[in-house]
Amino acid sequence: SEGLKRSSDNLSNSIGAIFTKKRLDEDTLLDLEDTLIAADLGIDTATSIVEALRAEKVDKDVAPDEVRAILAREVENVLGPVATPLVIDQTKKPFVILMVGVNGSGKTTTIGKLSAKYRAEGKSVLLAAGDTFRAAAVEQLQVWGERTGVEVLTRPTGADASGLAFDAVQKGQDEGTDIVIIDTAGRLQNRTELMDELEKIIRVIKKRDPDAPHATLLTLDATTGQNALNQVEIFGQKAGVTGLVMTKLDGTARGGILVAIARKFGLPIHFIGVGEAVEDLEPFAAGEFARAISG
Ligand code: GDP
Repeated sequence: SEGLKRSSDNLSNSIGAIFTKKRLDEDTLLDLEDTLIAADLGIDTATSIVEALRAEKVDKDVAPDEVRAILAREVENVLGPVATPLVIDQTKKPFVILMVGVNGSGKTTTIGKLSAKYRAEGKSVLLAAGDTFRAAAVEQLQVWGERTGVEVLTRPTGADASGLAFDAVQKGQDEGTDIVIIDTAGRLQNRTELMDELEKIIRVIKKRDPDAPHATLLTLDATTGQNALNQVEIFGQKAGVTGLVMTKLDGTARGGILVAIARKFGLPIHFIGVGEAVEDLEPFAAGEFARAISG
């Protein structure tokens, strides 16, 4: 995609700048390792890519394109196993998706995009505005609801989010809704409180459906680089994250963080966000992404 292409410009330019000499020597390899680390790929991945290049090409003539091809191959090796679609099990009525992530990571936008996608597939969708403390978040979700023709359940500001989540699952069961998506708060100022709230939401919706949530998706802003790793750590333990959505992969050079996250956590990456518009959500394709960040 265009968005993805833009995101890759920087790393690819850096690689071009390093490989000004024809012969692949140790200095060039070390420069490449630094570049890969600076691009957020993580030390392990950077090292293994450089090892692969050293084994295959050191002291040989090598064109930048060959290096990019090896880089793409190594990145795809890491990302391939985690690039898995989100499977909506339609024996679950409703299939309950819990959305978690810090404020600003693109949670609400992703919910809007998912609503549009599933509506277009002919599925019925119900949204729960579970970030009950931020009036703006509730309003924003309502805007997405109107835009995509999807009902949004709300409660007054400050109301208990778990009660709202319970109601949404119940309503979905009563009405035979295909998918219920529950938004949640994402303030990290009081992490303990936030995690308690998430645990309570999960506990309470299990009273309506012991298997719910059927998917817990964490949105991560790819432009925050290494911070994203901490967020997977925090939400992963407490909220039982089952899959990731990487947002804002348009117009940034920081897509390398996906590689570090994949390597460290092995969690499925279901979707990537490549813009603010409703159509700017793509299934995560490892090969395409690997080629895009390699130039
Ligand atoms: P939330 O606080 O986690 O619900 O985050 P929002 O959904 O409100 O998103 C925060 C900001 O990021 C908004 O201005 C969105 O339009 C923007 N945003 C979300 N996803 C993307 C994306 O994939 N690309 C870009 N460029 N912006 C995005």
